[in-house]
Amino acid sequence: MKVASFGKLLLSIMVFLAFLFSFQADRTQAAYSFQAKVNADVLNVRSQPGTSYSIVGKLKESQVVTVYEQKNGWSRIVYGTVKGWVATQYISATTWTGYVTATNLNFRSAPGGSVLGTLPKGTAVTVHGNDGTWLKVYATTLGKTGWVSGSYVSKQKPATTTTVSKVVLKANSNIRKGPGTSYAILYTEKAGTFMDKLGESNGWVKVKSPTGIIGWVSGTLVRDPNSVLKGKVIVLDPGHGGYDSGTRGVTYLEKTLTLRTALELKPLLERAGAKVILTRSSDSYISLAQRVNVSNNNKAQAFISLHYNAYSSTSTGVMTFYYNSSKDAALAGLIQSNLVATTQLRNMGSRYGNYHVLRENRQPAALVELGFLSNPNEEKLIATTTYQKKAANGIYNGLFHYFLTR
Ligand SMILES: [Zn+2]
Repeated sequence: MKVASFGKLLLSIMVFLAFLFSFQADRTQAAYSFQAKVNADVLNVRSQPGTSYSIVGKLKESQVVTVYEQKNGWSRIVYGTVKGWVATQYISATTWTGYVTATNLNFRSAPGGSVLGTLPKGTAVTVHGNDGTWLKVYATTLGKTGWVSGSYVSKQKPATTTTVSKVVLKANSNIRKGPGTSYAILYTEKAGTFMDKLGESNGWVKVKSPTGIIGWVSGTLVRDPNSVLKGKVIVLDPGHGGYDSGTRGVTYLEKTLTLRTALELKPLLERAGAKVILTRSSDSYISLAQRVNVSNNNKAQAFISLHYNAYSSTSTGVMTFYYNSSKDAALAGLIQSNLVATTQLRNMGSRYGNYHVLRENRQPAALVELGFLSNPNEEKLIATTTYQKKAANGIYNGLFHYFLTR
């Protein structure tokens, strides 16, 4: 059966060719490739690597081709339906920036090779090329080139790495519909409120309030919250110490609690960039004159003397003293109002007090009485870590508001 065997042979050849073709196709897909940009006005694409071969297409400057192979100064490229060889000197490799989308992405020596390190989510990598599945990348964090799975790298910068910047209001501020005084007032927001900063235009800042209201505020009324306490010299003066125990409750001595409060407050202020100086950091006696010297010699921008009170077994509340109404009263008033807000204790107000550490102080100074040790119930409350933190936060907030406009 001659015809039949010829048919069989033809079929065999076709199967073989199909096999070869599929093998070639697979090989092409698995081969390493990268993107390159044409940097000649016109670039000839030839059927084979060499100027003697026929021109099968032409490329223009800035067109981006995919390069699959390079040899002897020639590059095998694909551009749409144009396939062939171009002189390597007229193309330049391009890279793109990718971002890791996996929690921790393995960084390997080769496609599927040994793990050289891991890249956390959001890490930016420079992508040089790929083999269809794996990306060849340079990771700045590791200082080397390697391979990562292409499934976990995105051109989109992940939203988690963008942080909202905040501004804080220096005064009670009108929030308007648009960037200018000609726009209607939406509402008035309180001094000290933290707002999300959404944009800026002509000296006005687009803001979002904590309750979600979006509007505009004059740039003169806001500042960067991180700048408020930065570099401020603050002296904390834990009252009493050593043989001077101060007042006493059933269990606690005033000198012990004043130091606890100071040590609770110090790191809060330091985290905000303030320079904090303690008049004492242990149970030691220092005179009133020495305390004032610490303030004057360091040119304290705020001096806070910490105390606990005594009167009757039913007395309750917090109060803050100042001596000089022009130098000290603003500081005392802001500490008092913020202390009441955080501790929720009775507000005994800020008031004049003729105390040595205030009277002899050349620097802005205040003296706080943080509750009554003579009241056994209040003593128990005062001694809790929760109350100590509330008191420290109240004084911190008072100082933050005080320095908002200073
Ligand atoms: Zn005292």
